[in-house]
Amino acid sequence: MRKIIFLDIDGVLAVPNDRKKTWRIEDKQQAELKRILDETDAEIVLSSSWRSATVEETQAHLTKEGFLYSDKIVGVTIRAYHYLDRTEKIHLSIPRGVQIKQWIDTNIHSNNGKDWERKVIGKDFNYVILDDDTDMLLEHRKHFVKCSWKTGLTKRLADKAIKILNAH
Ligand SMILES: [Mg+2]
Repeated sequence: MRKIIFLDIDGVLAVPNDRKKTWRIEDKQQAELKRILDETDAEIVLSSSWRSATVEETQAHLTKEGFLYSDKIVGVTIRAYHYLDRTEKIHLSIPRGVQIKQWIDTNIHSNNGKDWERKVIGKDFNYVILDDDTDMLLEHRKHFVKCSWKTGLTKRLADKAIKILNAH
């Protein structure tokens, strides 16, 4: 069964560092992510604003920032937004949940963009969303692990993610 982690960085792996007054990817949070990867054999799709246009660029950028599991990244979500009116600067931001749904529809349910077949969660695939923001969809609620931006991915939250990914 294919397993996907939709991974945010800020507020999940990167948390505020009191001493240095900066946000960077921290060892403790990264170790909890490793535990999820080891226990579930999941792949990573980056939904964070740290993502670049392609998987390769994203891997290179994140590795440079100290991320240890770039080889697990298999995708990035689209950057979806829309100007309803450029002159009036009316900007419509598209919730992250919609961007995640778009990735699942395109990469899980669709076969090369031709045939479309609804795959079954818990049988064909499973996923978890690690994020400190809350703009997900109602259909994501059982797959959403909400992190606190101050503490990011904790042991308790990683345990929850493992349980969700290994459920079938
Ligand atoms: Mg965040």
